[in-house]
Amino acid sequence: MLRTVPVPDQRLVDDYLEPAGEEAVERLRTAAEPLKGSRIIHVSSTSFGGGVAELLPTQVALLQDLGIDVSWQLMDGSEEFFTVTKLVHNALQGAGIPWAESMEQTYLDRVASNAARFEDPADFVFVHDPQPLAMLSFLEEWGRRTGKWVWRCHIDLSHPMEQVWSFFGIHAERYDAAVFTMEDFIRPGVWKRIAVIPPSIDPLSPKNVWLEHESVWEILNAYGIDPQRPLVTQVSRFDPWKDPLGVIDAYQLSKERVPDQQLILVGSMAHDDPEAWHYLEQAQEHRREDPDVHILTNLQDVGPVAVNAFQRASTIVLQKSIREGFGLTVAEGMWKERPVIAGNAGGLRLQIEDGTSGFLVDSVEDCADRIAALLLDRDLRATMGHAARERVRERFLSIRELTEYLELLNEL
Ligand code: UDP
Repeated sequence: MLRTVPVPDQRLVDDYLEPAGEEAVERLRTAAEPLKGSRIIHVSSTSFGGGVAELLPTQVALLQDLGIDVSWQLMDGSEEFFTVTKLVHNALQGAGIPWAESMEQTYLDRVASNAARFEDPADFVFVHDPQPLAMLSFLEEWGRRTGKWVWRCHIDLSHPMEQVWSFFGIHAERYDAAVFTMEDFIRPGVWKRIAVIPPSIDPLSPKNVWLEHESVWEILNAYGIDPQRPLVTQVSRFDPWKDPLGVIDAYQLSKERVPDQQLILVGSMAHDDPEAWHYLEQAQEHRREDPDVHILTNLQDVGPVAVNAFQRASTIVLQKSIREGFGLTVAEGMWKERPVIAGNAGGLRLQIEDGTSGFLVDSVEDCADRIAALLLDRDLRATMGHAARERVRERFLSIRELTEYLELLNEL
């Protein structure tokens, strides 16, 4: 057996009537009806960090409430395997990497041993990302495939490194369907069926649920942030694609016009990610000892509730990415009725309609202009924040995403 991830949070579909609306909940129940009693398995390579770990607990809990038998199982990796799959991840998003037959072997050996432990007959299997992708090929080879298989590709597959894709594509084409975040990310060819289903946020999770003003203030005070002065926040890994240095530059530029603003950069640090430590240090140097720039990480105990408080307390939420798959932080900020300024890239474009439910920016200067304009215009902030929340309510809540998955399963 593969390891099963326990899903501690209870979620009832009816709890979503208020945030998502009756119609959305009804559509979910209709989609779930024909699937009652069927068995769904999600397979991923990690239960911690990243979008998949953020999304699946809610999905699993809701499916259980809908009378669908669901489990989330983890494949077992190894350091060598994850080194290969991290390179694969980059290569499939278009980077050039050194690719060798020995890497294919490392990948296949590990996936085969996981496939051998996959003993559960299921009606539907969702496989997330490239790490467990080839499991289906082994099961087919051994005559042990049951049910319909869906590959959920969370990355931008539009321009993969050809040599790496020629290896992975063979495994992908066996799937009954592939799901992408947006049209632009689809690699043409090979697919029996394609669905475009953007990710979502859970309005009832500790990161997004309503917090009283007193709790928000307490948390800000605990981190030495002044709740009475304007606050600009970016929550993201310390990664060059998230452009933390560009965020500091934009803040500094706009500070010439709005001097009392503060900036928070929150990022979680994994002990096995030396790159992140390097970029964290760079950001620390870049702030030039400005006491109004707060750089915080999980090492200071910044968990989901603190992130929630920072986003809620922010006058503006930023996500100045240069490249981005989806960017859950944007939906998180929008749901909290914050005006969000985001890089004009990938899934950020899907979420924000520029000028209405937020701003999309192409440069540091552009970003600084938007920061200053929003900080100086309370009405604009209110109108934009309101439009942002409604946009998330309509398109980016977990109920909608789950419904679209179930509708796909019904078609299959
Ligand atoms: N996040 C967090 N603490 C941090 C950094 C990120 O809780 O210090 C969360 C963030 O709120 C979001 C997720 O991690 O829910 C990151 O997802 P996103 O799609 O924005 O970016 P990714 O890291 O997947 O590229």
